[in-house]
Amino acid sequence: KFITFEGIDGAGKSTHIAFVADLLKAQGKRVVVTREPGGTPLGEKLRDLLLHEKMHLETEALLMFAARREHLAQVIEPALARGDWVISDRFTDATFAYQGGGRKLAIDKLTALEQWVHPNLQPDLTLLFDVPLEVARARLDATRELDKFEQEKADFFDATRREYLRRAAEFPGRFRVIDSTRSIPVIQEELASLVRGI
Ligand code: C5P
Repeated sequence: KFITFEGIDGAGKSTHIAFVADLLKAQGKRVVVTREPGGTPLGEKLRDLLLHEKMHLETEALLMFAARREHLAQVIEPALARGDWVISDRFTDATFAYQGGGRKLAIDKLTALEQWVHPNLQPDLTLLFDVPLEVARARLDATRELDKFEQEKADFFDATRREYLRRAAEFPGRFRVIDSTRSIPVIQEELASLVRGI
């Protein structure tokens, strides 16, 4: 099974990835935890470029999908073929949300790239950690320095969040929206029952 974790910066998804991985391992499952952008040596180099270099918006989207192609070939597809569980910290929904929603790249271009790179694969479960913008910003400011993307304007994150929520409504079969303003133990209880159910 393939589980993806999504949400705007500061929504708290990373806190919960280790929890879900441990939960699955405790059930005797083999679990591969990976992330995007990144996940392979090439992908990590692309991540570094994507996070720090200024580039044309379409270049950014193409590099995201190039990194994803490699990630699928090297990590995700072999793991699923072995019967392992795969947990990815972000996947294609993030590209729709950030490059599409946030940066306004035409959604149909992203859909075309998605069709090219993974026409037949979607996550079995996508956990969308959702918080209002003010909560996300407060969390980020308190814990770490903001990177290139995070420094951009609040309306960018607002548009990113709205595109995530739009996709959650469009694909209700695989999306679960997690109200991430609640306490960690309460969220973990919900995650445990969601993961048991797939
Ligand atoms: O999830 P993580 O914190 O590793 O993401 C790193 C950065 O990459 C975030 O600041 C996020 O804003 C940015 N990003 C992006 N477009 C994506 C995925 C991530 O701008 N498709």
